[in-house]
Amino acid sequence: MVNAVTSEKIFPMNVNFVDLRAQDAPIRDKLDQAVAAVLDKGNFILGEDVTQFEEEFAAFCGTSYAVGVNSGLSALQLTLIAHGIGPGDEVIIPAHTFVATAAAVTFAGARPVLVDIAPDTYNLDVTQIAVAITPRTKAIMPVHLYGRPADMEPIMALAQAHNLIVVEDAAQAHGAVYHGKRTGSLGHAAGFSFYPAKNLGASGDSGIVVTSDAGIAGRIRALRNCGQFEKNRHDLAPYNCRMDTIQAAMLRVRLTQLDTWNTARRQHARLYNALLAGSSVKLPLVDDDSDSTAVWHLYVIRVAERDALRAYLSEHGIGTGIHYPLPVHLQPVYKSLGYRAGDFPVAERCTQQVLSLPMHPHLTREEIEYVAGPIMSFLAR
Ligand SMILES: *Cc1c(COP(=O)(O)O)cnc(C)c1O
Repeated sequence: MVNAVTSEKIFPMNVNFVDLRAQDAPIRDKLDQAVAAVLDKGNFILGEDVTQFEEEFAAFCGTSYAVGVNSGLSALQLTLIAHGIGPGDEVIIPAHTFVATAAAVTFAGARPVLVDIAPDTYNLDVTQIAVAITPRTKAIMPVHLYGRPADMEPIMALAQAHNLIVVEDAAQAHGAVYHGKRTGSLGHAAGFSFYPAKNLGASGDSGIVVTSDAGIAGRIRALRNCGQFEKNRHDLAPYNCRMDTIQAAMLRVRLTQLDTWNTARRQHARLYNALLAGSSVKLPLVDDDSDSTAVWHLYVIRVAERDALRAYLSEHGIGTGIHYPLPVHLQPVYKSLGYRAGDFPVAERCTQQVLSLPMHPHLTREEIEYVAGPIMSFLAR
């Protein structure tokens, strides 16, 4: 690793939070060829690569259908709309997630009903879902946060008992496995994001819905393309949420690497946990077994003096992130939902303490060891 020189300091090492160029370097020729082939054909929207990628991604997830769209947010929003969810309906989501989870619900015209998270997994606290169900509840949208599958078995049981749809927000969990099945195949439908920094990322925005329900897949195909089941006849709301062919072509190349990349992320998480064991930071669970595996979109520790540690790591050339600094109910835009500080204590405490360390497939052992050093010295002050 080359030394990085800034105006003030020379770091022994610079460790990026993510490194998309390192990820693409070994497959650059294939990406270039894929893009060139699309330029040659000139079929830029919903072209052949989109159809082929949909088939490949559905097969990867273990679902019958996939429908490519323009973002993860659109994937979730159109999935709710395709299920007939809208004004007057409630959708249960975790209080600690990226804002797009809630936005998908509000953009469908429905109301997000928040539930606190479990402190060890950062996912929906399944023991608190039942009390949030009302006669207006139509769906539960669990998030596989940080790449760890939500506890889907009790969620599906509750949904069945109350006749609810389950839409997985799988935007951070491409390839994660829960009881032998891939995320995306666990609920009635799922939305994935291909934002560049996700485990599988485009070179721009895009997303996809996966489902084994032919009717829902067909409705989303129509919704994404101006509400058309047939050309020039607009039966449904005329959204434009189409997927670009160039993104699909590049995603097809990167999908061939995804399992290898996820395996590397898992190894990095184990190494971090080993290096930080015995310290006072709360480490993420590494509870992978043969039939359930997280894919470590983010490696998130919890520490009381989070902001001071973050600044200290920055001084050492180490990039970090906070996912997320505010829970959904305290975001200004969602004030109107009527929640207050104190309503979701676990989520609120987590947002003050979580710190995401560098995590991407091409981290080296040397880099991870370097990151652990200043964390240990900070805690030993
Ligand atoms: C990234 C993300 C989304 C939204 O995806 P976009 O492609 O950015 O619209 C939704 N939910 C979660 C949990 C995410 O991390």
